[in-house]
Amino acid sequence: MTTATDTVATPTTTALVHISSLVTNDPSLGEGPLGLIQDAAVVIDGDRIAWVGETSKAPATDNRVDAAGRAAIPGFVDSHSHLVFAGDRTEEFNARMSGRAYSAGGIRTTVAATRAASNNVLNANVARYVVEALHQGTTTLEIKSGYGLTSEDEARALSIAAAHTDEVTFLGAHIVAPEFADDPAAYVDLVTGPMLDMCAPHARWVDVFCERGAFDGDQARAVLTAGKERGLIPRVHANQLSYGPGVQLAVELGAASADHCTHLTDADVDALAQGDTVATLLPGAEFSTRSTYPDARRLLDAGATVALSPDCNPGSSFTSSMPFCIALAVRDMGMTPDEAVWAATAGGARALRRDDVGRIAPGARADLALLDAPSHVHLAYRPGVPLVSAVWRAGTLV
Ligand SMILES: [Zn+2]
Repeated sequence: MTTATDTVATPTTTALVHISSLVTNDPSLGEGPLGLIQDAAVVIDGDRIAWVGETSKAPATDNRVDAAGRAAIPGFVDSHSHLVFAGDRTEEFNARMSGRAYSAGGIRTTVAATRAASNNVLNANVARYVVEALHQGTTTLEIKSGYGLTSEDEARALSIAAAHTDEVTFLGAHIVAPEFADDPAAYVDLVTGPMLDMCAPHARWVDVFCERGAFDGDQARAVLTAGKERGLIPRVHANQLSYGPGVQLAVELGAASADHCTHLTDADVDALAQGDTVATLLPGAEFSTRSTYPDARRLLDAGATVALSPDCNPGSSFTSSMPFCIALAVRDMGMTPDEAVWAATAGGARALRRDDVGRIAPGARADLALLDAPSHVHLAYRPGVPLVSAVWRAGTLV
């Protein structure tokens, strides 16, 4: 007779041993805020972490993988990406970097290409960049809409994103759709009405680009409030290009994250330090536009929680590389290597309100990256070098 247990495959346990230095992000498990353990072992049971400690104390397991002195970190948690797009903006980037004026329409160029693309093309594009990020250690990835800007095109983008991640964000308020250039108020009515009706079922988050030339404070408030009423949780593109109301609005409305935070007043910094809203810094955007970086040191010293993300998008930051952002954050934003690695893992998890990722501890999802280096500091110390040598996502070696 066949019993239920006969038909269920028993999860195998695997121990990764002789990890030279393990970042757990759990201070109860090891040294300092990163919970560092030397000569560490991690036991994976199915898709979860079952045990963490020193190799000499590791329990017996079905399989054993020798890390041979490589470091390990939690898989990166990227809380900000714009991957549902078609076309590229090579010419725009080349002109900008060559000091030439460029008159094409920026985001509008991508909107036109995205609307014209088939579902298959968009889906294949997302898959390509998800895999690209995964092989650089990113095991959790938020994906936004924002290049459709019609109800149908935004809903399509969200359903494509949802095939790749649970962290799907409705960004119908990325820019005012070209058809509404003369009547932005009507576009806000669309976003907060019929478009939201079509999009809310596909998304967890609602976002808005609160910036001069995009949406002002009142418009952003309307978008985020309407999203909240449909059960979506706010996150905000805030204070990227100029000072403005985005950060204060994010904190006031209980947004999970205020993203960019490049131009902050002291009151903005205080609001972030005192509220629960994570400051998510996206240095790829400043890198790719030769702009001034956000001041992470100021935020950290004030007590704000900081996350890092590459902001992968075809216009202002066409990189999926979290290690690159760690190197920039350390070199140009005043972060220590420990702070930058925390921000790229646990910080990203906070920005997505997740506690099952961004740490290596019993019960967490088994997401981790092995580095071809003796410690996580090498992510900043050896910029541009592909140090991520193996990645497990939900217990599976990818
Ligand atoms: Zn963005």
